[in-house]
Amino acid sequence: MTRTPSFSPPASSAASDALARLEARLTRCRRCPRLVRHRERVAREKVARFRDWVYWGRPVPGFGDPAARLLVVGLAPAAHGGNRTGRIFTGDESGNWLYAALHRAGFANQPTSRARGDGLRLRDAFVTAIVRCAPPANRPAPREVAICRRYLLGELGNLPRVRVVVVLGKFAHDGFLAAERARGQTVPRPAPRFAHGIEHCLPSGLVLLCSYHPSQQNTFTGKLTRAMLDRVFGRARVLLRSPRRRRSRTRRVGPPP
Ligand code: SF4
Repeated sequence: MTRTPSFSPPASSAASDALARLEARLTRCRRCPRLVRHRERVAREKVARFRDWVYWGRPVPGFGDPAARLLVVGLAPAAHGGNRTGRIFTGDESGNWLYAALHRAGFANQPTSRARGDGLRLRDAFVTAIVRCAPPANRPAPREVAICRRYLLGELGNLPRVRVVVVLGKFAHDGFLAAERARGQTVPRPAPRFAHGIEHCLPSGLVLLCSYHPSQQNTFTGKLTRAMLDRVFGRARVLLRSPRRRRSRTRRVGPPP
């Protein structure tokens, strides 16, 4: 008999209290003048299809289960997605792809992510990004990535059970490895390379799984398919069932794209 996963909210814990305090600091952050101007201008001007929305227009915190063993890392909130709804990967096509895949893999209780309060809950997974304010043209400057790293580090420090990290795209991959270095973990040189389906076991014991970002540019063109994304999260499931490995190594998940 298949057991239905429980998606009940996690009990209050020191970790979730610390994440809540981090979220309170993050959502008031104004450290990057260019990104603050952009996120607030987008929130004022809106687009026609969302003109009735009150945009969030602030930094977007990570979302998910404080007891997560799977961490999913993206680039930054979308101007009319997370910057509108206030939840990461919510209200845009990338989020539809991501949460549908997490649902198929058993990490999400529903396949859609439309707005805060839509009932979406994650189990054993936490979704975040390397930058928390929507950047112009989806391109944060290296300095902005570096300034914002404090929040990813804060989450990593308060998600003590994380074992597997899925990075969505090369920016997220590089940003995550920089966070590993910043928290004192060894990162091999040359750095683990990014390619869809590549898996690296890092010296810290975390397993890094690389995936193309589920942007429309990738999904509309077929560069990233549902089957490819499903293989990544299917592999994450297998890894979470396996004993922790400590030896550095690299392997490929499924056939080359
Ligand atoms: Fe603050 Fe990060 Fe937004 Fe910069 S990108 S203003 S550091 S939340």
